Amino acid sequence: VFNFAAGPATLPENVLLKAQSELYDWRGSGMSVMEMSHRGKEFLSIIQKAESDLRELLNIPSDYDVLFLQGGATTQFAAIPLNICQPDDVVDYVVTGSWGDKAYKEAAKFCKPKVIWTGKPDKYTNIPGFDSLEQSPDAKYLHICANETIHGVEFKDYPTPKSSNAILVADMSSNFCSKPVDVSKFGVIYAGAQKNVGPSGVTIVIIRKDLIGNAQPITPVMLDYKIHSENKSLYNTPPCYGIYMCGLVFEDLLAQGGLGEVEKKNKKKAQILYDTIDGSNGFYRCPVEKSVRSLMNVPFTLEKSELEAEFIKEAAKEKMVQLKGHRSVGGMRASIYNAMPYDGVEKLVAFMKDFQARHG
Ligand code: PLP
Repeated sequence: VFNFAAGPATLPENVLLKAQSELYDWRGSGMSVMEMSHRGKEFLSIIQKAESDLRELLNIPSDYDVLFLQGGATTQFAAIPLNICQPDDVVDYVVTGSWGDKAYKEAAKFCKPKVIWTGKPDKYTNIPGFDSLEQSPDAKYLHICANETIHGVEFKDYPTPKSSNAILVADMSSNFCSKPVDVSKFGVIYAGAQKNVGPSGVTIVIIRKDLIGNAQPITPVMLDYKIHSENKSLYNTPPCYGIYMCGLVFEDLLAQGGLGEVEKKNKKKAQILYDTIDGSNGFYRCPVEKSVRSLMNVPFTLEKSELEAEFIKEAAKEKMVQLKGHRSVGGMRASIYNAMPYDGVEKLVAFMKDFQARHG
């Protein structure tokens, strides 16, 4: 099947086959990765290779740490304020969708976040102009969600924090490793793995080293970046198998020629899908402002909304699954992450045209 799920999502077939081939016996060790001590030389080689490949992919500067954590991006909604500011500090949130909103609400428990822009009145279909952002002069950080998975809104460029002491923090869960990113523009990038780079259970944090070590006193040990940094992500038992899978995906992305090549493929896939929606004379609609449409998550509705259940049912019969939109917004959503082949999107587009011919 072609699986258009928003996450956990489809993984590259060659990566899954490679994992299968070494499932019982990882490279002559006689052990599955699931059975290894996280402190043994075998697993240490796996996590170190995963980190160095990720550093190469994203060209991560040496003054940044890479942490492999647990708890999903949702845990980072709390870890960010707990590590980056004190209870009385002001921080700014640009809310371009449900995930940014959740991050803001969690931060409100640990500091004084301010929503400086929200797309809610327009049902999260846009991203603000950066010049018009009224940033707080003393904000400790500016938080964005680089790609809103539910609403399909993606930052194509990034705002610069106004205060020279402030940093940019980004939730990149749903477009992580889908394109090159200038890491040096950010203080912290965090992402759950389960969209583009692996199975759920691994959360990756990329953080500038000088930001580590200032956690609020109440910070639980598992949320303290200093603890994880000092212990090279091995303070407690990490999600070993997930990290191994991420490592295989990083190898695959490098073998494809790196993130520049990956981005080209992602643009081509998104283009044919958006073209089909826009060329359907209103039969299909994508509400998102064209310049900020996501390359990863394509939400769309049918003019005749009563046909949506039929669309999803027929698509599933044709082996295209998980096309139902998020329960909060309805309609359809095609998530076309790195591992979705061009053929999958081509097949979806052909189906959409045929469905329109029959029901239009
Ligand atoms: N942020 C974004 C952009 C997401 O898409 C998601 C999950 O889909 C989350 C945060 C929450 O991630 P998790 O379920 O790993 O906590």
